[in-house]
Amino acid sequence: MYITPSPQLSNSFHADPSKNVAGKRIYQVWRGSNRFFCGGRLIFGPDVRSLLVTLVLIIGPVSVFCVFVGRHLWRDYDGGIVIMIVAVLHTFVVLVLLLLTSGRDPGIIPRNAHPPEPEDEINSPSDWSGGQTPKLKLPRTKDVVVNGVTVKIKYCDTCMLYRPPRCSHCSICNNCVERFDHHCPWVGQCIGRRNYPYFFLFVFSTTLLCFFVFAMCVLRIKKLMEGDPPHTVWKALQRSPASAFLMAYAFLATWFVGGLTMFHMYLIGTNQTTYENFRYRYDNKANPYNEGVFRNFKLVLCNGIPPSKNKFRSKVQLEAPSISVPTVQSRESVDILSPNRKAIDEIEMGDKSAWSTLVGAEAYQDLHARNSTNGAGNKILKHGYEDAFAEALGGEGSRGGGLRVPVAGPNR
Ligand SMILES: [Zn+2]
Ligand SMILES: [Zn+2]
Repeated sequence: MYITPSPQLSNSFHADPSKNVAGKRIYQVWRGSNRFFCGGRLIFGPDVRSLLVTLVLIIGPVSVFCVFVGRHLWRDYDGGIVIMIVAVLHTFVVLVLLLLTSGRDPGIIPRNAHPPEPEDEINSPSDWSGGQTPKLKLPRTKDVVVNGVTVKIKYCDTCMLYRPPRCSHCSICNNCVERFDHHCPWVGQCIGRRNYPYFFLFVFSTTLLCFFVFAMCVLRIKKLMEGDPPHTVWKALQRSPASAFLMAYAFLATWFVGGLTMFHMYLIGTNQTTYENFRYRYDNKANPYNEGVFRNFKLVLCNGIPPSKNKFRSKVQLEAPSISVPTVQSRESVDILSPNRKAIDEIEMGDKSAWSTLVGAEAYQDLHARNSTNGAGNKILKHGYEDAFAEALGGEGSRGGGLRVPVAGPNR
């Protein structure tokens, strides 16, 4: 049994001097595992170092191409300079797409910092367990209907929210990410709603770069074979070992990035994420997001990038959790059924910070109140479900000009 803390308790918690986050920016007290650069302007996953490997794997071969192959083509062909210009510009585009993929917010949903308003819970008839004492229930999952298909959304203990449909918690970055596709070790970042188009274009343009380099190396070998004196293929390859190396490299790389491009074209065409494809397999059941190939491509690639829900450079807002005494007079014991039993135990032991980890689905309830419900009390969502959820779940962060970090949160 837990007695709901009074506002007085909240204030003393708020004033805890040991939690010195005052004056700091959101990215400095970020609770995910991300790495920030340029004063919080660039956000990467914790494995950002692997990005260096990817950069070497791109810039290295292109440099070899320019020095040992492109230079000769420039000399041997009229207008050969175009080959060099295309190689350099194409590589530049690939690198920009790589940076846009890995250095930006992939669609992180700000963690909740507050418990829900007890009144809201109590006002909901479904939360009454009968008798005199109301129960505050937080089921682990809830059903929502998306385009006529029932989808389960799960409660995230870490982020204290009900994940919107298609959202998943990345165990590497330790964040809930909208339209989570996968965590890509090659770019050192989650692939989610905000960087998926860039990721796809990066993979696609890298495939084109492989084709281009391979074709230009073939051109170089052909020129050597037709030269004076003419060479056999093997002799020409010996004369230009860089071409031989780059052809083999581009061939192998094409299998990887070309295969990835094809796979993601299939996913986009059927409006699936990698996570959904591996986890759920829509083959045997209806995919509620599939709206036809052309519309799927438009939805995934041409719908624009929504603004980030996180303002990493904003100053941390210190505020008391808005806990109010429920309408149960004389503060009778309120039995809280939470997915996080541990948090309850900690609260019972006086750890007030755990209170904020207990619940926090106020955004969900906010939406719950605004959306229609079916007979079973489940939400019915049609098109725009993601926006509706995102608004409800992310509103907490955006309304306040940034993520509100619990004052008891760990400092970094
Ligand atoms: Zn989460
Ligand atoms: Zn991740």
